[in-house]
Amino acid sequence: MIELYKVSKTVQSGAEKLTILRELDLTIPDGQFVAVVGPSGSGKSTLLGLVAGLDAPTSGQIRIDGEEITRMGEDALASLRGRKIGFVFQSFHLIPSMTALENVLAPMEIAGLKDAAARARQLLRDVELTERAHHYPSQLSGGEQQRVAIARAFANEPKILLADEPTGNLDSRNGQHVFDLMVGMNRRRGATLVLVTHEHELASRADRRISLRDGQVVADETLRQSESTESPTAGELEAARP
Ligand code: ADP
Ligand code: MG
Repeated sequence: MIELYKVSKTVQSGAEKLTILRELDLTIPDGQFVAVVGPSGSGKSTLLGLVAGLDAPTSGQIRIDGEEITRMGEDALASLRGRKIGFVFQSFHLIPSMTALENVLAPMEIAGLKDAAARARQLLRDVELTERAHHYPSQLSGGEQQRVAIARAFANEPKILLADEPTGNLDSRNGQHVFDLMVGMNRRRGATLVLVTHEHELASRADRRISLRDGQVVADETLRQSESTESPTAGELEAARP
């Protein structure tokens, strides 16, 4: 479970203090597929970076499975990320000097996983890139590079996958393919998926849609029951109360 309590983020911009997120409260249960939408500059990437522990909030608390990440040091954070969180960026962030297979293998080797090579090959098969295993990022199309990035994000079997406009640099056909693979892999593994997207069509396929504007949640809609959670959401418990 991901929990945010009164999370805010302000930065100093010249002489001005700029508020990026203001007092955000949010709970995301295990296995939920959440789409985060909102205009450019509304704080979507900042929110995702905070949940990943890549950035620290100015105030408030963030907990992942009950562990408060806002109090962790760099090493503990890196370890938690390695164990629990996968991240997919808009611009693929692959290592150019490594082949597709090596890019997927790297996080597993860092974590000292057994059978890493076999798992990396399976992950590449899952994203339909077996044939491209020994190609370098520069030899792959944008869609293929993003599929490698997805395979890599799943390397350590994260419980949480965070994706920041993963289809933003792809044409609609490749974007659709990448999206389907990500959602499919996520469903199979019962992981939580938090996906930032501009595309309404993609966002409407989530279990829940959170709309941000000026660093605030302006809408939080349940679109369907999440497929991999059994427990009712807080809203449903509230609604079921006599
Ligand atoms: P989104 O992903 O929704 O487009 P961001 O989270 O990237 O929005 O950014 C929200 C706002 O905060 C933007 O106006 C952006 O320019 C600003 N911002 C983000 N990070 C910084 C920073 N480190 N310093 C100054 N301004 C920032
Ligand atoms: Mg962004």
